[in-house]
Amino acid sequence: MFIASLLGGAIGDALGYTVEFMRLNEIKSKFGESGITDLKVDPISGKALISDDTQMTLFTADGILWAHMRCSERGIGTYAGSGIYQSYLRWYYTQTKRLPTEDDQVWLKSRIHERTDSILNYKELYVRRAPGNSCLTALGSGKMGTIEKPINNSKGCGGVMRVAPVGLFLHREPAHAFKVATELAAITHGHPTGYLSAGAFAAIISELINGKTIIESMMTTTNLLKGYKGHEETLQSIEKSIALADSSESPKQAIKQMGEGWIADEALAIALYCALKESNVKEALIMSVNHDGDSDSTGSICGNILGAAHGIEALDQEWINKVELKDLIVKNASDLFDLHECAFNGR
Ligand SMILES: [Mg+2]
Repeated sequence: MFIASLLGGAIGDALGYTVEFMRLNEIKSKFGESGITDLKVDPISGKALISDDTQMTLFTADGILWAHMRCSERGIGTYAGSGIYQSYLRWYYTQTKRLPTEDDQVWLKSRIHERTDSILNYKELYVRRAPGNSCLTALGSGKMGTIEKPINNSKGCGGVMRVAPVGLFLHREPAHAFKVATELAAITHGHPTGYLSAGAFAAIISELINGKTIIESMMTTTNLLKGYKGHEETLQSIEKSIALADSSESPKQAIKQMGEGWIADEALAIALYCALKESNVKEALIMSVNHDGDSDSTGSICGNILGAAHGIEALDQEWINKVELKDLIVKNASDLFDLHECAFNGR
């Protein structure tokens, strides 16, 4: 399920990346009335290119491995401050070839969780695929944003689209996954909607791994969400996705009512709506990217959800084989699973 969730996200991301900045009518005039329905393969690499959403998700997963080992070694620390902020600084480096301070250079060296290989060895991660401004500016500031000391007032979807690995790794405790994901998103997104959408997304992934249905996972999550200050906008969007999925409104009109997905709660709501509305995974992913807005982020979040909910066998094998960095994604998910088993199951 760990592998399925991360591969599902990468597939949705790659499907949507081709049409990220296109309105629906432009998508239709280029790909036909059904919109984009297949992965577009890059002629140079022969792969369907992933974007910043999957790149950052991989840095989150790598950062969890790093933070968990560092915290265990020292007996103290938070995920955000003990490896994930540093992992995001590495991501910042891949995109800009810079780090905010000289002292940060140390994070580029081989670290505790890197026995044989480093995420920094993958050249595909250095390619800029429309990285989000909030992420770049916040990480470039040299300060780590927190909920207590917000780095900005951003509620873009850059915080939510990268936290599926938190839900996977901490699935035994959805409330903990929620909290940790809010802290990770707050590194770059200071508005409550920006980080609470991330918390909600991680908690949903957790509950899916625990065997709950999508709607049951959303119920646990809305109860957790209500305990946080500033939750109203995020809650409203999640509830709207449920009501619309339950209604006879056409997907095209329903998605319009939820927004365009550039904002965190809208991206989460569109992804949830598609996962609820369409039981066929391939069709749900196609639905999640064919709209006016941020197609790769809604596709990525939807793919993470569908993978966690339905498993690897529900994903299209041809799509799995086409997606860029497939081997790294599988390795990353497997490492996360192995560490989870070792840390929480004593294996
Ligand atoms: Mg993207």
